[in-house]
Amino acid sequence: MDKPKIAIHKFASCDGCQLAFLNMGPELLELAAMVNIVHFVEAGMVAPQEEVDIAFIEGSISTEEDIERIKFIRKISRQVISLGACASSGGLQALRNLADGEQWLTELYPEPQYIQSLKNTHPLKKYIKVDFEVWGCPVNAGQIKQLISSLLLGAKPQQTRDRLCLECKRQQRVCTLVVKNRVVKHLVVKHLVVKQQETGQQACLGPITAAGCGALCPSVGRACYGCYGLADNPEPHALSMRLEGLGFIGREIAQKLLMIHSYEESLQKEAQQLSTKQRDIL
Ligand code: SF4
Ligand code: SF4
Ligand code: SF4
Repeated sequence: MDKPKIAIHKFASCDGCQLAFLNMGPELLELAAMVNIVHFVEAGMVAPQEEVDIAFIEGSISTEEDIERIKFIRKISRQVISLGACASSGGLQALRNLADGEQWLTELYPEPQYIQSLKNTHPLKKYIKVDFEVWGCPVNAGQIKQLISSLLLGAKPQQTRDRLCLECKRQQRVCTLVVKNRVVKHLVVKHLVVKQQETGQQACLGPITAAGCGALCPSVGRACYGCYGLADNPEPHALSMRLEGLGFIGREIAQKLLMIHSYEESLQKEAQQLSTKQRDIL
């Protein structure tokens, strides 16, 4: 029997999620014995036009050419998996959707007419059907191994959407929402990033984020920013009220909610309400 064919494609991204494949080390060789990796530029295989059983896609869609390419990949792939926060939600580069992209282009580039990007950047699901999303920024090798094993067995991949707080508490981590730590804050004042150190609780998104990373950030005393995607039934309004109670202002909370998830309607709605409330106060 022929081995299933796999492709790994890259769009607008930092390559960190593809590295999760390479980080599998010797297990990548075991994987290569079970499947036929036909396209993976970072590992030296180049065959972007070849039909495959599973296409992993890293990165978000940022240009007209990207739209054409992702639609073509969908046509030649039996299953399409979005790999990481960029592909699943737009990720960090979708932050530009919250700003005036045209203004930034003229301020940052001497010849902005040569930049051919869409007004906004979007996750794959805006343009094509995605069969499964793997979250993380970056994803980890364990998620990929589990996913490929399920697909090779013909089983539906399982992914926990429990809240990160459960995982964090099971590991007996100190809660950054409760305990005052030294926090480095980055404030943007007229495009300049100003660092401020202060002592206080941190705005952790653990209560609305899916478990699976092993509570990586809280384990080093840092708040979660939500890269493993939303948990089942997230309640962003309850979290934002808690954060307001700790003294965070609406704009800060809105930026935090949208940092990874600017495409999520429930978070957009909450961020909009926070911004409106703040305008009313000012
Ligand atoms: S999800 Fe994060 S690590 Fe993965 S490609 Fe995007 S920015 Fe890089
Ligand atoms: S994930 Fe964040 S909010 Fe939840 S328990 Fe851990 S530190 Fe506290
Ligand atoms: S703690 Fe949050 S931000 Fe950190 S790796 Fe886990 S999901 Fe991502």
